[in-house]
Amino acid sequence: MNYEVVIGLEVHAQMLTGTKIFCGCSTQFGSEPNTQTCEVCIGMPGVLPVLNRKALEFAIRTGLAMNCTISPYSRFARKNYFYPDLPKGYQISQYEHPICEHGHVEIMVDGVLKRIGITRIHMEEDAGKNIHEGGGNYSFVDLNRTGVPLMEIVSEPDIRSPREASEYMKKLRAILRYLGVCDGNMEQGSLRCDANVSIRPAGQKEFGTRAEVKNINSFRFVEKALEYEIKRQVRVLQEGGKVIQETRLWDSAKGITESMRSKEEAHDYRYFPEPDLVPIMADERWISEIRAGLPELPDARRGRFVSEYGLPEYDADLLTSEKAVAEWFEEAVKSGGQPKTVSNWMMGELMRLLNEENKQIDECLLRPARLAGMLLLIEKGTISGKIAKTVFEEMYRTGKDAGEIVREKGLLQISDESAIEKAVDEIIAKHPGEADRYRAGDEKLLGFFVGQVMKTMKGKANPQVLNGMLKKKLSQ
Ligand SMILES: [Zn+2]
Repeated sequence: MNYEVVIGLEVHAQMLTGTKIFCGCSTQFGSEPNTQTCEVCIGMPGVLPVLNRKALEFAIRTGLAMNCTISPYSRFARKNYFYPDLPKGYQISQYEHPICEHGHVEIMVDGVLKRIGITRIHMEEDAGKNIHEGGGNYSFVDLNRTGVPLMEIVSEPDIRSPREASEYMKKLRAILRYLGVCDGNMEQGSLRCDANVSIRPAGQKEFGTRAEVKNINSFRFVEKALEYEIKRQVRVLQEGGKVIQETRLWDSAKGITESMRSKEEAHDYRYFPEPDLVPIMADERWISEIRAGLPELPDARRGRFVSEYGLPEYDADLLTSEKAVAEWFEEAVKSGGQPKTVSNWMMGELMRLLNEENKQIDECLLRPARLAGMLLLIEKGTISGKIAKTVFEEMYRTGKDAGEIVREKGLLQISDESAIEKAVDEIIAKHPGEADRYRAGDEKLLGFFVGQVMKTMKGKANPQVLNGMLKKKLSQ
């Protein structure tokens, strides 16, 4: 039987506010445990929370960027549950009246655009962290994270494959980073994802029973966890069993999902309106101001890269996925680089080197203008395309100018006919058999001769001059 996969994602994004959502404590990552806490965030009696205006602004900014309606009336609710890292015994979240609703984002999978609906975006506070150390005898609680402002972005069940899920995650991350509302750092947990997964026989209208997979903290794991979970559900159904509604934990070391608990229903949390906070009635004028201040977003930029620079969709999509990458590209083009050539070098050599060192583009020494400078040297015939790879890598490592590297390393391209002729004569004399076969019609051997001459000339021969010379000499 053919099954259709139905996935919805709940993404938690930590907002870059500097202070917590209901108090003035710092949100800095990695501080000594329990040094960033106060009476409000550790839930002392008799204190009152006050909403961080910046957090509200960031949520609205995100909602507008994701094509949501901003609710004229919104309020917080208490989500009740008991856990040692939740000092109040409830989490302040939003339930019936989230700040943003009915949005969407577009993703591109294999060159095809697809729209994924956003059900809602709501604000909430993060919980603390339990640390299980001390040989099993003790557990510790760190409340630095308690009250850190989060947005929960809930998608419609529009996602149909693990690949679409990871593309959707990437798009959310890109938008959040373009907006400057979240750093998108998945390793530090600033961006986390829970996935609701179900399968149904192809053509069936009703959704199958879904399982929620928690603890997914990288794009790679989004795909792996979902692939595993889908296979597991197919197997359960094929063996005549039933998928049960439950929460499962993704174990990235074992590469499996494991049952954690039966899934809570909303009523298990006994939601009720938070009496300590007034409802939010976001001012129309303020919303318009926020809208006017939105930056150019990834989709708009992708469109512009296609129309303004004539780039293929694929290049434009890749180059606009990170704001810093897009800006790097535009600066290289402004410095005189031909757009498609700049794109090729960035998507090829630059990304390869960055990936090797697991670095971001703004961490590398190579500046965009230097790439443009090197491309000019290739255009003028000062260096060959082959040598350019060496020069590029050296620029990447040292940040130096291409011209300087060429001079220092003696990499100038040799166009001087007499020098090339000498090398060509030597190689032909060394390989009389191949020369005869070429003359007898085996033209593929030209490549062999080019390679041999390039080897003796350390790749510096001007390819056009060399090709011409070889053809001339071999036909004699
Ligand atoms: Zn506090």
